[in-house]
Amino acid sequence: MKNRIFNIIFLGHQGSGKGTQAELLGKKLNLPILAMGDFFRREISVGTEIGKMAEIINNRGELMPDNITNKIVAGELAKKEYKNGIILDGFPRNLIQAKALEEALKTTLAILVNISDKESITRISGRRTCPACGMVYHIKYNPPVRENICDRCSEKLIIRADDTEEAIKRRLEIYHEETEPMIYYYKQRGLLLEVNGEQPIEKVHEEIIKKLNIAH
Ligand SMILES: [Zn+2]
Repeated sequence: MKNRIFNIIFLGHQGSGKGTQAELLGKKLNLPILAMGDFFRREISVGTEIGKMAEIINNRGELMPDNITNKIVAGELAKKEYKNGIILDGFPRNLIQAKALEEALKTTLAILVNISDKESITRISGRRTCPACGMVYHIKYNPPVRENICDRCSEKLIIRADDTEEAIKRRLEIYHEETEPMIYYYKQRGLLLEVNGEQPIEKVHEEIIKKLNIAH
């Protein structure tokens, strides 16, 4: 199993926990993870050309155009550290990106961490963020000791604009429109592995491992 090359991509709704699953699987298989959100945040904080461009586009509230994203990812994937396999999180986001990815890398598996729209809304709309320290709570799954007050710095918690029900519903619409054709694309080619994301984190991980057919 060690010599086998795994190029794995993670798909799933906002709040599906796919980022966490990507990390756990990366540790298990000893594979590097390229998480696009983190990648762009890093580029922005360092102030690279990519970062500057991403910042302008972010500030406009727009998404990075596919052709630019594809080029950036292809550049990253050419790096030596990914030659024995990689786990991608946050890319591809649509069919155009998925097809571009195939030119740079042979996908061995697309793991879909499945949760319903309803669960996605519950998970995200319940988020409360501390504006001072950035701690994220959840009113149901991870509440602060005192209602709506940060445990760390006693600041009043807020709901981020991205976490309102309206914003989530808008993102879910985009998700269905853009991601579903891509899911079908991987399914058709026999590369889709679907897991139930509405289970505790450890159970989801176990299901992935079981389905990957790797001994514990
Ligand atoms: Zn705080």
